[in-house]
Amino acid sequence: MGRVMRALWIAADTWWVGRAEPATCERRQQARLNDLVAYARARSPYYRKLYRGLPMRITDPGQLPPVRKRELMEHFDEWVTDPGVTLEALQHDFLSDLSLVGSRYLDRYHVFTTSGTTGEPAILLHDADSWTVTQIVSRLRVRRVALSRRTIQSLLRHGIRSAAFFATGGHYGGVVMVETMRRVSPLLAKRIRVFSVLRPLPDLVAELNAFKPTLMGGYPSALALLAGEQEAGRLRVRPVAATCAGENLTPSTARRIEAAFGCTLINGYGASEVPALGLQCPEGRIHVNVDWYLFEPVDKEYRPVPPGVTSHTVLVTNLANRIQPIIRYDLGDRVEVLPDACPCGSRLPSVRVEGRSGDVLPFAATDGQMVEVLPLALASVVEEVPGVRRFQAIRTGPSALTLRLESLPGFDREQVRRTVDDSLHGFFLANGIGAVAIQHAADPPAENPRSGKFRQVWSETEPPRNAGALAEASAVV
Ligand SMILES: [Zn+2]
Repeated sequence: MGRVMRALWIAADTWWVGRAEPATCERRQQARLNDLVAYARARSPYYRKLYRGLPMRITDPGQLPPVRKRELMEHFDEWVTDPGVTLEALQHDFLSDLSLVGSRYLDRYHVFTTSGTTGEPAILLHDADSWTVTQIVSRLRVRRVALSRRTIQSLLRHGIRSAAFFATGGHYGGVVMVETMRRVSPLLAKRIRVFSVLRPLPDLVAELNAFKPTLMGGYPSALALLAGEQEAGRLRVRPVAATCAGENLTPSTARRIEAAFGCTLINGYGASEVPALGLQCPEGRIHVNVDWYLFEPVDKEYRPVPPGVTSHTVLVTNLANRIQPIIRYDLGDRVEVLPDACPCGSRLPSVRVEGRSGDVLPFAATDGQMVEVLPLALASVVEEVPGVRRFQAIRTGPSALTLRLESLPGFDREQVRRTVDDSLHGFFLANGIGAVAIQHAADPPAENPRSGKFRQVWSETEPPRNAGALAEASAVV
């Protein structure tokens, strides 16, 4: 089958399965998993060795041992299924050259690297099928879940001018997606631009005012920062829609971005290993594209966790990618599959993503035990306080927390700080945590200087993480 025909077939199948009975989806999963496992056994020396002794036909994914990023990266050359790909040549001939961002390695493979600032770095190759799935799944399903007819009409009327906010300086997920599209045609290249989030904010604002984007996409933190500029009147843009991915998005941040720009915010869920894993619906739930990605929430011992229970991590399988098989891969996200049907009408399973398991913050409880706090929970407490523009919370010990707080203009900073302290003390108390000393740092919140990502809550004395896959952004519009 030619490449175009194959892409059309994938699109038609994805459209159809999205509307069919769940049993259709399960049959797809089973058939695709069998094909992928057979391929990995035949072409990947790493998987051949790992699966030695397993039955030829796999009836349940649970028969396959989970894999982790560190081991896979250590065996990169045996992991890939094309003997023409080696880590050394890939790094030397391709990754070291930033002019090649968005082009295909060996004319065949799309390449993402993760920055490794919140986990171990990884290099991920995607073949034509995997790339097609990445490009079409979200676009086919976004209309159903989030884009109204009016939004699309408005976009057609005003024309597409898309601004993407990512860190440049590497073959990072979001930038690779945008640069790949720009290479398709010079016409498209003029209408889609990457704005590096590592640049000074006033420059970014001036360029955006001139570019007048109708679509905006990037990390939630970047969009939140720009929402602040829009609120202050320095930024004056009227996007029709905004998309984000790559970081956790709290409901209050989402509301703030939507209010500032007066448009719908579409939140994608993915990682460089599984780029189009899920998409948020208007109900605020993430629907997982389980026809192309297996999604298994598990506990610490990799035992399945039922719907309604928060997992320790999740094992993901990319059913579309053959070049570098991702089969029962520990993604590191704590998730909860929601047990009831989503009011939005989607038949795809919906989940709540609570963040990386490695990011959980242990605080000393009043009874001498430790209590694990989810970063998202702590972030919500601070964000609910009126007058908070941006903040970072850093756990510096079992009973110590440092805050970097930026208040909104018109609010008394000392008053905002006191209210935040009161709210946090109340939150800690309600969770059985003893007295936590809260310190306010003089320096303002800041992005990571290399990745441009904004970590909101973390621990400086971190326990060793298991896999912590870095969710690089996936642009969905
Ligand atoms: Zn939904």
